[in-house]
Amino acid sequence: MALRLFNTLGREIQTFEPLKPGHAGFYGCGPTVYNYAHIGNLRAYVTHDILTRTLRAGGYTLTHVMNITDVGHLSGDSDFGEDKMIKSAAERGKSVLEIAEFYTEAFFHDLDRMNIIRPSVVCKATEHIADMVELIRRIELNGYTYSAGGNLYFDISRFPRYGELAMLRMDDLKAGARTEIDGNKRNPGDFVLWFTKSKFENQALIWDSPWGKGYPGWHIECSAMSIRYLGEMFDIHAGGIDHVPIHHTNEIAQSEAATGKHPWVKYWVHNEFLVLDKGKMSKSTGSFLTLQSLVDSGYDPLDYRCLLLGGHYRSQLQFSFEALDGAKNTRRALADKIRALSESAKNSPESPAQNPAADAHLSAFTAAVEDDLATPRAMAELWGLLRDSGVPPAAALKTALTMDEILGLGLSRTLEKAQTGETPEFTAEIEALVARRTAAKQAKDFAGADAIRNTLKKQGIILEDGKTGTTWRRG
Ligand code: AMP
Ligand code: ZN
Repeated sequence: MALRLFNTLGREIQTFEPLKPGHAGFYGCGPTVYNYAHIGNLRAYVTHDILTRTLRAGGYTLTHVMNITDVGHLSGDSDFGEDKMIKSAAERGKSVLEIAEFYTEAFFHDLDRMNIIRPSVVCKATEHIADMVELIRRIELNGYTYSAGGNLYFDISRFPRYGELAMLRMDDLKAGARTEIDGNKRNPGDFVLWFTKSKFENQALIWDSPWGKGYPGWHIECSAMSIRYLGEMFDIHAGGIDHVPIHHTNEIAQSEAATGKHPWVKYWVHNEFLVLDKGKMSKSTGSFLTLQSLVDSGYDPLDYRCLLLGGHYRSQLQFSFEALDGAKNTRRALADKIRALSESAKNSPESPAQNPAADAHLSAFTAAVEDDLATPRAMAELWGLLRDSGVPPAAALKTALTMDEILGLGLSRTLEKAQTGETPEFTAEIEALVARRTAAKQAKDFAGADAIRNTLKKQGIILEDGKTGTTWRRG
């Protein structure tokens, strides 16, 4: 396999050469579980998923690690603002752990619905405090820390390579002092490794440490957990583009300061943002769309996955319902094509499942995903195969399913449904909407109930209210 990835470290396309032949170690920053994931977050996880599927298809064994941030992430990435978990718990009248559990479960439900393969290791920050303390001790022993105002800080001036990933210049960092400055910091870019003097009197989760009772800074968790599960040097680290200047920059500084090894991570992969017409999507301001809100509007989660695959992960993608409608139509057309191929293959049992033209399409598809995960090109190659009348149906079907092992658009499920004669697509979503409409009517929310009826009508679904409840049929 000749996978090439754009490495943020160095800003160039590089051929992927793992540290251990045949094995890839991959860490992707996970969610802070104080609210539902928004559809922008899910773009990050679909990117990770395409990468893991591409590595697997290329024959690598894979250790894919994802953290769950359930402590220490403040609303500002550089130690200012409120603790996101504590704020959310207080607003909802729940404990921090209850909040974490609820939103972690909701997060994995979203991943499953988006056909995202679960990571091999999922690790919670609160269960790895000892690893963090140990790593901070190593950083301290190596002389990169100072204590001020009760907290332990990382001193970026002691780490000459600081900012290499983000191409930050030390002078700019000094000049660009942030508005909300922590007076204890020697340099504006310094960051907290361990808080003891919490600015939150009600800090719910605290642990003993050599620096006193307190809790870790946010960045240290990713260093500690990735080193724990992947070793002191590993292959790939991924996250959204917003993490380049602070979070990942700080992760590199503290990991390399602790171990003395460089580079800590060989390839840095960052996805660009999904934006709304109105601008940035933000979990902390609450102005965001969830996957469930798309489902409630009558879309299948895989329609959204299909929309994401239509854009390259390194380009900003503007979300709109028109674009989502387009992706939904694409997926329906794919499903129709798969069902038609399955029929044709059944009717011509002698047609071969292996074919040189199909192999050529598969090679072009593989070349596209291996070229820095070019999913829009890969989608075009899938269509090229499906429209090629020179490929026998059985071969086209088999090759499309092989391609879908990377795309993850659920084509094998479509095929199973076609083969068992089950009502083709989207049944579960329709039934969920019908149930929501019934609930809305019971709550006397007639406007809400009518809105759902109209949404379904637009999709050609007719509802009939009878004595025993509501039934539906395709109109
Ligand atoms: P968070 O839960 O805020 O830590 O974010 C989880 C992941 O989503 C991180 O990798 C972020 O960089 C990424 N992310 C946040 N917002 C967006 C967005 N609008 N588009 C794409 N990725 C995002
Ligand atoms: Zn991280």
